[in-house]
Amino acid sequence: MLDLTTNESVERKALRINPAKTCQPIGAMYAALGVHACLPHSHGSQGCCAFHRMQLTRNYKEPVMASTSSFTEGACVFGGGANLKTAVKNIFQLYAPEIIAVHTTCLSETIGDDLKTMITQVQPDVPAGKHVIHTNTPSYVGSHVTGFSNMVKSFVSYLSVNSGEENGKVNVLPGFVDPGDMRELKRILSVMEINNTLFPDTSGVLDAPMTGTFEMYPAGGTTVKEIIDAGNSKLTIALGTFSAEAAAIELEKKCKVPMKTLSTPIGIEATDRLISELALITHKAVPYSIEEERGQLVDLMLDSQAYFNGKKVAIYGDPDIVASLTEFVISLGMIPKYVISGTPGDAFKKEVDTILSENEVEGTIVKGAADLFELHQWIKNESVDLLIGNTHGKFIARAEDIPLVRVGFPILDRYAHQLFPIVGYKGAIRLIEMMSNALLDKIDRTCPEEDFELVM
Ligand code: SF4
Repeated sequence: MLDLTTNESVERKALRINPAKTCQPIGAMYAALGVHACLPHSHGSQGCCAFHRMQLTRNYKEPVMASTSSFTEGACVFGGGANLKTAVKNIFQLYAPEIIAVHTTCLSETIGDDLKTMITQVQPDVPAGKHVIHTNTPSYVGSHVTGFSNMVKSFVSYLSVNSGEENGKVNVLPGFVDPGDMRELKRILSVMEINNTLFPDTSGVLDAPMTGTFEMYPAGGTTVKEIIDAGNSKLTIALGTFSAEAAAIELEKKCKVPMKTLSTPIGIEATDRLISELALITHKAVPYSIEEERGQLVDLMLDSQAYFNGKKVAIYGDPDIVASLTEFVISLGMIPKYVISGTPGDAFKKEVDTILSENEVEGTIVKGAADLFELHQWIKNESVDLLIGNTHGKFIARAEDIPLVRVGFPILDRYAHQLFPIVGYKGAIRLIEMMSNALLDKIDRTCPEEDFELVM
């Protein structure tokens, strides 16, 4: 279907074709689902909300609950204040959430709705002990990653309080990763004996088991109480500059909780940095079970080295994940040829360029606010052995016959990815399995008969 893509790349400023991102509210909605008994609310027209719910449902294969201000012509002209007021009253009466997390859309931002004032005005309709918060997510700037980050920060701005009594906990902000990753982070924190609040936490919500009973609010998610208490923690660790750091900075500013930003722990080096940081907190040796997982990963890296060494790879998607993946593929001996993200801003290029120069890798094309059309054109000029990114890359993979390893958001055409981690040593082991299988499958499929091997 992309057979007509030309190899002649033209500098484009205003036009994006198949951008490596989606719209802000999707990230905001995902973050809100990681808070227990929270109903995400889309302040805009029904179509936006339907699209965001659909995209999350297609990715996580779970029903995604959210409400909408249902703008029609009247709200577009006079503003959506009345719609929001009615919505808040109805939502608490009908769906009884603990908290409503409102995010804006292109429409409500364009007409200039003042959400801060509106949230104050709806307070008489908020039952005692319940909450309504908001974040601004105009989709003509940023990306779903920005929307996620904005929503997490808003939970802190509205809710977190420093009561003066330290709770001895560490806040861990996982960033925009899957429920399986959040579960894995909690497991690592538990093995390391770190008393923590993981926030947000979509495990138990978007990977909930089939019980035969519909639960409007599944058992998982960080509780409102925990978010309020996050202001009393001794440290915040933000995992990811783009999707997690803003909330950690806000917690530091508002509640004086010291913070540290680490990269998303994908790959051996990024995971090492997380484990070292956690060991500094506990003042204890790293438990043997974690050492053992690392040892298994190193063993696997050595075993599979021949198939990775010197292979060229294109990585695209969310900036935190792409940056860590870049470091990981370098550690496997691969050459990151093209590294792109759809999230705008110079920070992505700086972060990836730092990784490349620290590892003395040259000749990589790195670009933020990029699109898959351009990536395809680069590949047409100089191809790669492997693509790593979300489902949208499957068209390039088919056109160029390049194996695709699905990582990131969204993955719309495969199953079970949301249940397994890519973070931590176990996540890196899984990535190696996926990447080596993709490369070996292609060898099996395309090699001459005399080279077709039983043992590889
Ligand atoms: S109008 Fe804006 S917020 Fe709504 S779906 Fe489109 S890009 Fe997203």
